[in-house]
Amino acid sequence: DFRNFFNPNSIKEEFIIKEAVENAVRIVKSNLDFYQIQLDIEINESSKINGFKNEYSQAVMNIISNAKDILIEKNIKNPQIKIYLEKNKKNILCIEDNAGGINEEIINKIFDPYFTTKYEYGTGIGLYMTKMIVEDKMNGLVYAKNSIDGAIFFIEI
Ligand code: ADP
Ligand code: MG
Repeated sequence: DFRNFFNPNSIKEEFIIKEAVENAVRIVKSNLDFYQIQLDIEINESSKINGFKNEYSQAVMNIISNAKDILIEKNIKNPQIKIYLEKNKKNILCIEDNAGGINEEIINKIFDPYFTTKYEYGTGIGLYMTKMIVEDKMNGLVYAKNSIDGAIFFIEI
């Protein structure tokens, strides 16, 4: 159980969603560029949420990192990641890829600790951490759905 892993001194504050997303992106950007993964961020400057900014960035980063991994693993042509706010619910962040989606047999397990399909390098901790940050620390919701050509992860605060 990683519940005590989080910084007990982090401060709950109102923050600009776009800033937190950009901080997450900064960490993986050179890797995305290296693999020529197109990244589209469409988030208005004014949308804010109340929560823990650094942890939120970490939660987003874990999802982007998985999208990147699967795009590379499957050698997707025109690999793409889109990050945007859901149209009528501005507190829901969507992270969408075109890597073919999540296998139906595992879609209920991806947030479990140590669940991974990456035998060589996976830890299975990324989405578990994301879920703890979003749901335990920020009382939000995180879930995934498949689209026509990939997966969409939703972070709802
Ligand atoms: P890890 O990245 O170490 O495998 P995670 O908890 O981050 O652990 O992810 C768990 C599993 O969820 C991955 O191994 C993968 O099988 C699946 N997964 C995560 N993101 C995606 C995605 N965007 N598309 C398809 N499968 C995914
Ligand atoms: Mg991961």
